[in-house]
Amino acid sequence: MRTPKIYFIGAGPGETALITVKGFSAVQHADCIIYDGLVNPSLLDHANPDAERISVAKRSGCHSMEQEQINALLVEKARQYKMVVRLKGGDPCLFGRAAEEISACIEAGIAFEIVPGVTAGLAAAEYAGIFLTNRDYASSVCLVTGHQAQGKDGDEPDWKWLARFNGSLVIYMGMETIGQITQKLLASGKPAQTPACVICRAVSPRQRVVKAPLSGIADLCKAEGLEAPAIIIIGTAAQGMNRADWFMQNRLFGKRVLLTRDAAGNRVFAEKFAACGAEPVLFDSIDIIDLTDSSFVSECLRNLSSYDWIIFTSANGITRTLDRLHKSGLDARAFASTRIACIGRPTADKLAEYGLKADFVPCSFTSEAMAAEMIAAFDLRDQKILLLRSQVAPKDIVRAFTNAGAQVTDASVYNVVARRQEAESVNAICQDLEAGRIDYVIFTSDSTACAFINSVPQGLLRPGRPQIVSIGPATTRSLERMGLAPDIEASVHTLDGILDALQERS
Ligand code: SAH
Repeated sequence: MRTPKIYFIGAGPGETALITVKGFSAVQHADCIIYDGLVNPSLLDHANPDAERISVAKRSGCHSMEQEQINALLVEKARQYKMVVRLKGGDPCLFGRAAEEISACIEAGIAFEIVPGVTAGLAAAEYAGIFLTNRDYASSVCLVTGHQAQGKDGDEPDWKWLARFNGSLVIYMGMETIGQITQKLLASGKPAQTPACVICRAVSPRQRVVKAPLSGIADLCKAEGLEAPAIIIIGTAAQGMNRADWFMQNRLFGKRVLLTRDAAGNRVFAEKFAACGAEPVLFDSIDIIDLTDSSFVSECLRNLSSYDWIIFTSANGITRTLDRLHKSGLDARAFASTRIACIGRPTADKLAEYGLKADFVPCSFTSEAMAAEMIAAFDLRDQKILLLRSQVAPKDIVRAFTNAGAQVTDASVYNVVARRQEAESVNAICQDLEAGRIDYVIFTSDSTACAFINSVPQGLLRPGRPQIVSIGPATTRSLERMGLAPDIEASVHTLDGILDALQERS
């Protein structure tokens, strides 16, 4: 039996993918996650659904009392569960009061591990094209807290010494006191022209960067309305390297993108957008559910070897089919004598996860192309074809194969239904749309388009603003039928194809 343990984990700054592999695995397996305000909440989507989640976001001004409560909470939860994760923004121990929490664990005899994280100061610099140790001008870095710059609350950094420091100064928690910090450095002899930079909400779609000489940076931040959380960098490095500002240069940076798939699909898609600096806005418009009567598909799966071709049109079709197969005591060998076609590369990749290689993938990822290309490449007369797909999939592919002389069995492995929406989430999306706060709305299927459009008042979506984006011709036709011709259609009909289309347009 494993001994109970608390894992102090650095979540990294902002973007979920910046957590370490070890930290991510602990989040997935934890029984309880106690997390701070700076942690990206979408990391918790990867936790066990049964895990207890407790936010201990601090309100400024009442730190010490709350910290004691957090220490006590950690001990309490470690006694209740086997695996507790204490998730902190950036690195868990840098300016994070981890020492106090860990000493509470030591006193209570609770085992712990520390999993380092990417700290905000380093990430902010790198996401702003700043090289803190560029050998031309800085051979050292100093991480400083600006929290005590008002002289109350704890030991104040030695500003006189820091004024003489010739490396890169990286100041955390300094937004409230930026005026005092710069004054102290200037009064201690730091040249007024020393480059300074403030990066606020780093590594997020709302990252902002301002640069000015040391003597002007505080006023500029005030004028620009910059707020915490922010990192202040002082020293020659702060001017940044020419054309190295890669993150904010991304064409999708700062764009708000409304995603309308099912819950799991939206979360996968959201991470792709977040990595491009865009801000995904999630609206789960459909649910993918099991069939009420699965006797027909079960019968088909028992007789897989009697088919010449099996066709999968989506990754969902593959997962549902293989799950069903496994539950009935069979495995991938059931496909041994049958050829398999997949409608797109991502669908074939999903198949490969089960150790199966697609025999045919059409060049264009639509059901029309699938039928046309298979009919051109193979003699399908009297061939037995099994389609394993959604209950609401369009029938045209069945007609095309039947006309080519094939015997087609169209079996549903899952169903798609419009999700019952909470008034609150619909209102939030409507307000965003009305106020022009959404740049793109993405539709990846006929069912997401219908479900979404039926959930919001008519007339709220107009071509142009926001831009309506379709994954491919079938979805475009559905949108057109509903009076909403898309502004952009992906030329490769996959999620990555949509990202590429947007990167080219933005
Ligand atoms: N343990 C954290 C730091 C906690 S102190 C780490 O290693 O990153 C909190 C301070 O971190 C904030 O006041 C701010 O200065 C900085 N910070 C955290 N996340 C940030 C972000 N996304 N952008 C800019 N600064 C950030």
